[in-house]
Amino acid sequence: MLVDIHTHIGYVKSFAWNVKGWVLSRLEDLYDYMDQNGVDWVVVLSVPSHCDEFARIISNEKLLKVVDNDTRLVPFCAPDPHFYKADEILHKLVKRGCKGLGEFKIDMKIDDPKVLRVLEKADELGLPVLFHMEAPKYFYDIDELDEVLDRFQNSVFIGHGPGWWKHISGATSDEAYPSDKIVQEGKLQNILRRHKNVYADISATSGLNALKRDIEYAKKFLTEFQDRILLGTDFPCLASDGSQFGPNRYHVDFIKKLGLPQSIVDKIFRLNAEKIIGRVI
Ligand SMILES: [Zn+2]
Repeated sequence: MLVDIHTHIGYVKSFAWNVKGWVLSRLEDLYDYMDQNGVDWVVVLSVPSHCDEFARIISNEKLLKVVDNDTRLVPFCAPDPHFYKADEILHKLVKRGCKGLGEFKIDMKIDDPKVLRVLEKADELGLPVLFHMEAPKYFYDIDELDEVLDRFQNSVFIGHGPGWWKHISGATSDEAYPSDKIVQEGKLQNILRRHKNVYADISATSGLNALKRDIEYAKKFLTEFQDRILLGTDFPCLASDGSQFGPNRYHVDFIKKLGLPQSIVDKIFRLNAEKIIGRVI
C-alpha cells in the first residue's frame, strides 16, 4: 500500500500545453484516485488562496469539514501569515482536527517575523510543516531557510517545490527545472545532513525532475536519505503532458524502476510517512 503525502481538493490551473483552464477535484475524485492506485491514506493540504492565484484549494475550516475525521485523509491547514494572529488561528485549527501546517506556500521571505510566528506555533505544537519554495515568490532563499531551521527542532519539515529541489545540484541555475547532470552536490544535501528533522517530498514536476535529471545520482541520493524521502504526487495538478499527477503513476513508477532494495522503496512509499504522521494522529 502507498501513502501520498501531498494531495489537494479543489481547483488548480493547468499549465499543460494541451489542457487549458482549471481542473476541479472533489472529495470523490480523491477517493477514486486512492482506490484505483492502492493508496491507503493521504495528507490533504490547504493552500493560502491569497498567496497563490493559480490555486483555489479547499483549505482550513472548509477542509476539516470536508475530510470529516476520515482516518484515510490527514488534513493540514495553512493560515496566511499576512493575517492578524495567524499563529492563534493555527492553534484553533489543530484543536478542530488539523494535523500539520501546509502547504505553507507564502509570498514572503521565510525569515519574515510574521512567518516565524506561525512556525514557532507549529514547533510548540510539534506539528509537521510542509513548505513550498519557488523563485521569485515563495520562500526562495535556501540560505535563509537553513538559518530558520536552526531555530525549530521540534517540528518535522518537509521540503517541496522547484526552489527546494533545484539545490540538489551545486551548479547554480535560474531555471525552475534544470536538466543537467549532478556534477557537484548542492545545498539540499547540506540541509538534510545538518537537520535530521528535515524531509523531502518528491511530488509534482519539481521532485520528479530533480531525480530524473541524473538517474545514477538519484539512486545514491535516495539511498543516503532513505529515511527522509516521502512519496507525494500533488494530485490533482497536471504534468506538462496534460496527464494528472497521482493517476498517471509517474512518481510511483519512477521509484519502482530504479531497482532500489525493497526496504528503501517501502520507506519512501509508506514507512517514512507513518513515522512522521503517526506521532500526530
Ligand atoms: Zn501542492
